[in-house]
Amino acid sequence: MRGLVFLGEDHINLREVPVPRAGHGEVVIRVTLTTICGTDLHIVRGEYPVKPGLILGHEPVGVIHEIGPGVTGYEVGKRVLVGAITPCGQCNLCLSGTWSQCGGSIGGWRFGNTIDGAQAEYLRVPYA
Ligand SMILES: [Zn+2]
Ligand SMILES: [Zn+2]
Repeated sequence: MRGLVFLGEDHINLREVPVPRAGHGEVVIRVTLTTICGTDLHIVRGEYPVKPGLILGHEPVGVIHEIGPGVTGYEVGKRVLVGAITPCGQCNLCLSGTWSQCGGSIGGWRFGNTIDGAQAEYLRVPYA
């Protein structure tokens, strides 16, 4: 698949990368539309630290392509919107119902920040 890879300040490149696979609790979506957020511009300008080598982007919509074990309530082909914040379901904020505020060590803003993001043909979504 093609993915827009951050390679360092002022350096991005559309590259061929492997299609991700869905692990336990994860789905993979085929991205049909995504944004270029101001945060992405900050990353590219070197104003927000992101490890080079990650695919940028954190605001996608798409269609479920693969469902990993343990995920219920979805089916392949269903249209979905994926939030920029990936709630872990385990931190105090998630447990109090404020999922969008998740900032736990394993949740929070991850796409294009700590894991591959959405400016690609497919996206692996944890805690699906
Ligand atoms: Zn954003
Ligand atoms: Zn959380």
